[in-house]
Amino acid sequence: MINIYQPSLGKEELNAIKEVFDSNWLGKGPKTDEFIKQIATKLISDTFDGIGCSYASTEQLMTVSCCTEGVFQIIDLLDIKEGDEVILPSVSFVGIANAIINKKAKPVFCDVDKHTLNPTSDHILEKITLKTKAIIILHYAGVPCDMYDIVKLCKEKNIILIEDNANSPFSSYNGQSTGTFGDYGVWSFDAMKILVTGDGGLIYAKNKNNIEKLKRSTYLGLETASGLSNTIDKKWWEFNI
Ligand SMILES: *Cc1c(COP(=O)(O)O)cnc(C)c1O
Repeated sequence: MINIYQPSLGKEELNAIKEVFDSNWLGKGPKTDEFIKQIATKLISDTFDGIGCSYASTEQLMTVSCCTEGVFQIIDLLDIKEGDEVILPSVSFVGIANAIINKKAKPVFCDVDKHTLNPTSDHILEKITLKTKAIIILHYAGVPCDMYDIVKLCKEKNIILIEDNANSPFSSYNGQSTGTFGDYGVWSFDAMKILVTGDGGLIYAKNKNNIEKLKRSTYLGLETASGLSNTIDKKWWEFNI
């Protein structure tokens, strides 16, 4: 059998896992912080006339257990509810529509370009109504959507833009990294993706205050993610919820 996708896992990865075992700290901790720092240095979140660029800040990023969790959390934060519509491409992952239905909102499928399998601003425009609250686009198989037109449309219509960047971890459009154009971007690092952590995901939020809110909700209201980021003096085991 010829595998289409084959994660290249070997000694280096085994050693990295050994370091985690030896450190006796499992779950979110120093390694996830390091991961966020490194990812931030690879994401160009703004370009100035395509010349100068600035990188995403670690405060605009957080890890999640998977990309689907990220989308569920974002939809929840947006207060999308019954009667609202969220547009998504007909080529998409099932978890995206589930996140919309979970809030009793209506997933509205738009068509995609037959060559790129990406939605265009025209496809999206056809589906916009007064009930449209958000659009979740997908950059399919590493190919970026036409972000110039899509960002313009979302701004004109005052619609929240979420980028499903699970397929295109380090793609760019006009020098800017996909996943950083919209209000939110989500990544997946599951076993079939380009960058594999076993299972795992990442959220980018343009507004870093929204990352703070998302951290609160993913940690169920706990103020700190783990005892590691706190000290005994602060009595980290006494939680404010
Ligand atoms: C894999 C994938 C997801 C879901 O990622 P998980 O981390 O498994 O939740 C979402 N969207 C796209 C486009 C994907 O390919």
